[in-house]
Amino acid sequence: MSSIRGHYVRIALFCAAILTALCALLVLHMADDYRLTVGQARERARLTAHHVAQDLERRLYGIEQMFLGIDDLLTLTHGGDTAKDFIEAVLRARQRNEADVMDLLIVDARGRIRCWTGTGLPPSVTDRGYVATHLRSDDSLWFVGPPQWSKVHYGRRFFAVSRAFRTAEGGLRHILVTILDLASVAHAYADLPAPGMRLTLHDSQGHTYFVLTGRSPSIPVWKRTSTWFGTQASITAGAGVAGTLLQIQVEQKTDPILASWLTELFVNLILWSLIAAAMMGAFRRFSRQQARLDFLATTDALSRLSNRGHFMALAGKLFTQSRRYGQPLSALVIDIDDFKQVNDRFGHGEGDRVIRAVADLLRRHCRASDLVGRVGGEEFVMLLPNTPVSGALATAEKILEGVEATRLGGRSPFSITVSIGVSGRGAGDTELATLINRADQALYRAKQAGKNRVEQLRTRFSLP
Ligand code: GH3
Ligand code: MG
Ligand code: MG
Repeated sequence: MSSIRGHYVRIALFCAAILTALCALLVLHMADDYRLTVGQARERARLTAHHVAQDLERRLYGIEQMFLGIDDLLTLTHGGDTAKDFIEAVLRARQRNEADVMDLLIVDARGRIRCWTGTGLPPSVTDRGYVATHLRSDDSLWFVGPPQWSKVHYGRRFFAVSRAFRTAEGGLRHILVTILDLASVAHAYADLPAPGMRLTLHDSQGHTYFVLTGRSPSIPVWKRTSTWFGTQASITAGAGVAGTLLQIQVEQKTDPILASWLTELFVNLILWSLIAAAMMGAFRRFSRQQARLDFLATTDALSRLSNRGHFMALAGKLFTQSRRYGQPLSALVIDIDDFKQVNDRFGHGEGDRVIRAVADLLRRHCRASDLVGRVGGEEFVMLLPNTPVSGALATAEKILEGVEATRLGGRSPFSITVSIGVSGRGAGDTELATLINRADQALYRAKQAGKNRVEQLRTRFSLP
């Protein structure tokens, strides 16, 4: 029985080990997936910031090339007033070609607009940073200005890129200015932000040029990591535009990028829970079936006492134990008197009930450490560990009285008697069978002596 239990425990441990290993694999897989997803999002944010920074650098390089061309034109035409219309026509042609150029200005050394792409009287720009900076400082070259509202184009914001051109001695010749339409520049990057992403162009002095946001997908509550982890976490990356104070900042909310990860997590959890539940259910069914089989294999169906095989196996252990520790062990062999007559008079059904009644009575007279089994048709054996023969005789007498006092039968009540043979383990007994045979012989004596009595058989080497 205990080896069978050990077998269950091993199977249960095996199932638990498999489940633990599967759970550990799931946790590792999901953690790895999380790192990968977040890592990819961080890389995407970094690449987006760098892409915008590089693209703005490319635009500034294009503006520089345009400025050099215009400067060449001014040098060739000696800046004379006769060439003003021609130069303005060139400026307008350049402006038409560049989608985000709102205006092009040529400003003289005193800060006044000489040529421009606009019509009518040019506005005063002396106070604007893209002119004032070059007027103020002798060595300024480039200026990339903060976002401003246009004086000429109502309701439009711009930022200026200007360059001072100087004589060999350092004197200011002229300032070339590009007025860049902020909305148009921003529009070029409008498709870049991924869902949950926020792309900001600002400068190190705190001016914000534009903010672009990716479409915010509607994420169900159960897919929001902010719901589960409590905070709306985000990933940030930045990049600077070389030679300017401009900076790109990309902020990516983790909710949209972890939505699919969370779905996978839930699906996996449900899947693994189902697998675990199925395994536990199968194990429970298996153990129940095994327990039932064990019961059938070890228990006598009629009396519910241990059957012969199981009784002998357990009794063998008790016998070995009592020998090892030198403790007394007594055996009682109990046989119902004239049982054939019970069957004959009241039928086999009543006979079965009698067997069950005697078994119940024997069970009631057992201590927890005692062992009782049905070893034959109407024959039972009891082993009383740590009990000397005197104790066994007392128990046998009690059983005898108990059986005699038991009323059996329904309408025609009757009682029965039993005969009991008692023997104690002798010092020279090396086998259980010797002890039981001796008790059996004692039983034979009891039968011979008239039944309904207890007899004992001593050995010369009986233990007390
Ligand atoms: P004694 O006093 O000498 O023991 O007489 P006895 O009639 O009890 O002895 P015997 O061994 O000759 O008879 C035992 C009878 O028990 C024989 C058999 O029909 C009956 N028997 C054996 N097993 C069962 C059982 O499971 N149910 C019933 N009803 N009878 C059984
Ligand atoms: Mg009998
Ligand atoms: Mg018998």
